[in-house]
Amino acid sequence: MDFSSVLLEGAFVAADVCLLGLFYKLYKDKVNQLHSLEIVRHLEINSDLPKQVESAGGVIPYAAICGNIKSLATPLRSHHFTHLRGVIYTRLIKERQIRWNPLFSAWGTTEIDVEKEVLNIPFGLAGGTFFKKQIVEVVNPLSAKELSLFDVYDDFKWKKESLSDTVIGYFRGEHTLGTHEVERILPEEIPLTAVGKLAIENGKLKIMPPKDGLTYFLTASTFDTLIDKIRSLAFLYKGFLYLIGAGTVILVVYNFKRIFVAVKQWRDRKKQMKRFEEARRLNASRPKQDNEPSCVVCLENAVEVMILECGHMCLCLNCSEHVNGRCPVCRAEVRRFVPGFLP
Ligand SMILES: [Zn+2]
Ligand SMILES: [Zn+2]
Repeated sequence: MDFSSVLLEGAFVAADVCLLGLFYKLYKDKVNQLHSLEIVRHLEINSDLPKQVESAGGVIPYAAICGNIKSLATPLRSHHFTHLRGVIYTRLIKERQIRWNPLFSAWGTTEIDVEKEVLNIPFGLAGGTFFKKQIVEVVNPLSAKELSLFDVYDDFKWKKESLSDTVIGYFRGEHTLGTHEVERILPEEIPLTAVGKLAIENGKLKIMPPKDGLTYFLTASTFDTLIDKIRSLAFLYKGFLYLIGAGTVILVVYNFKRIFVAVKQWRDRKKQMKRFEEARRLNASRPKQDNEPSCVVCLENAVEVMILECGHMCLCLNCSEHVNGRCPVCRAEVRRFVPGFLP
């Protein structure tokens, strides 16, 4: 077990634990959202709504309403389809490049933001009858979750260039292919579900981000579809949690076993070294007798070490340190050296 493999396995465990933390947070967020959506107050946008909010003290901390989008200023228009009008508009232009990656020795594609435009105008959600319309103004819509805009334009344009430009680009390791443009819009008149703090401010009904711990939602889907989506995400994150958790446990148990074996080997070696030291000290204190057998390697010192499992006593302490693997007498595999103590 060398140091680099320990580091590598440590990094694996750390990455696993980070991933576990990330998915736990995602799962917990969804569970909290589900719990808070259970206590949400469902209200209808009609001419009675101001009275209902007034009777609750002017504020309903967490309410769900649904109405049709109504712009409260000049609507925004798509650059490409000017008949399309909306209340939130985004336009993203990216440059698509291929670049030489020296690490992988290959060309890779990347997209770089060139221009980003995010615009919104004041808008509200309208409900009620034709004669008695009621509007709830939507505050800070860009901070809401689940707000999916509709793609109205998505196109890629190849760059026109001369052959020499292309060749130079390839030699430079960077070559622009063209531009990718995406336009998104939140159109007028479509139904929108809003979940947030409903309040009356300056005589106007407004829905806005709720207090900390509660999530502000704006979605083109229904309330039930929103719940279903959060529930399935929670289920998915829980599955990932179990999967990564099991992987982490296996990794940790496996590494503990390896570390345990390594520590045991280290302690055995330390114990053996101590016995060798003792044998060296004792044997040094007595001169070699004439009838004593000599070490088969140096042919000089007395034999001091026994080889296991073959049992040959044929080496001095010094030479045993240089014999690796096989017994010099019978070529049997050396499992261990045991120091011998002569009388
Ligand atoms: Zn020797
Ligand atoms: Zn042997």
